[in-house]
Amino acid sequence: MAHNTLEKTPVTLLGLGAMGTALARTWLAAGHPLTVWNRTPARAEPLAAEGARGADTAAEAVAANTLIVVCLLDDTSVDQVLAGTDLVGRDLVNLTTSTPDQARARAEWARERGARYLDGKIMAVPPMIGVAEAGGYVFYSGSPQLFELHRETLAVPAGTTYVGENAGFAALYDVALLSAMYAMFAGATHAFALTRKEDIDPTALAPLLADWLVAMAPAVHQTADQLRSGDYTKGVVSNLAMQVAGTPTFLRTAEEQGVSPELLSPYFELMRRRLAEGSGEEDLTGVIDLLVR
Ligand code: NDP
Repeated sequence: MAHNTLEKTPVTLLGLGAMGTALARTWLAAGHPLTVWNRTPARAEPLAAEGARGADTAAEAVAANTLIVVCLLDDTSVDQVLAGTDLVGRDLVNLTTSTPDQARARAEWARERGARYLDGKIMAVPPMIGVAEAGGYVFYSGSPQLFELHRETLAVPAGTTYVGENAGFAALYDVALLSAMYAMFAGATHAFALTRKEDIDPTALAPLLADWLVAMAPAVHQTADQLRSGDYTKGVVSNLAMQVAGTPTFLRTAEEQGVSPELLSPYFELMRRRLAEGSGEEDLTGVIDLLVR
């Protein structure tokens, strides 16, 4: 189907790494006029062949359009790339990974340069970009007006989830979800290690592991309810005292299997500390209070 490019918001995209290139292709396919720039010009060539306009400098790319999307390696590279550009009157959408403080500082930095700012953090890998059913999305925070104004254009590569005016919140949600993911990977790592030396096919264990993790994941809703009410004993099924009593079995099994307990031990230690405070009837929720103190 032919797209009427006149109706589509023109986009400038700085950064054509794996992610930037995937983003670029979706805007091109949707008929958005696209201006691109990348430090290594060769990465812009295939996109130019697909209809993108290649700019010689970042400044030229920024001058071309109002909506400027940045997808670079890190916050330092954003600094370097935008240093020589004129951002007055521009709508800057920064999809580069950063910390919440870096995002807030970047929002202020953009404001001082006369630009409106929206921070975005991508919850997807490049093959999920432009594939609606893959479930990838981007957290956005910062100017609500900017989000509304460009919502449709930003929704082309992936879903959009706006999490508030505080420009650091997209980064905070991003790191919160990814931190939970790494803890899940750590658990799976330990599980595979336990069975590694046995005659157990890892491809037979994997579906059992995946199903179990999915079955346990909804427990986060109870944690959230308990945090909100302040009552960590509400709806408890397996209390802390019982769970701590079970930990020697896990540690001893690791020892029997010749596996280091170093991924499990820190969490067990926190559970024991919370129990020692007299919280045996609670869920695991109280461990959160130990961490934030
Ligand atoms: P790549 O490593 O593939 O690309 C990095 C990009 O940054 C390239 O365009 C590179 O230019 C550019 N760059 C790096 N340093 C500089 C610099 N000093 N000056 C100018 N340009 C620079 O990374 P991705 O495209 O995968 O990632 C981009 C962003 O997206 C990152 O913040 C990443 O965390 C985030 N992201 C990536 C995901 C992924 O799975 N890939 C998932 C979610 C978020 P050059 O080509 O010249 O090297």
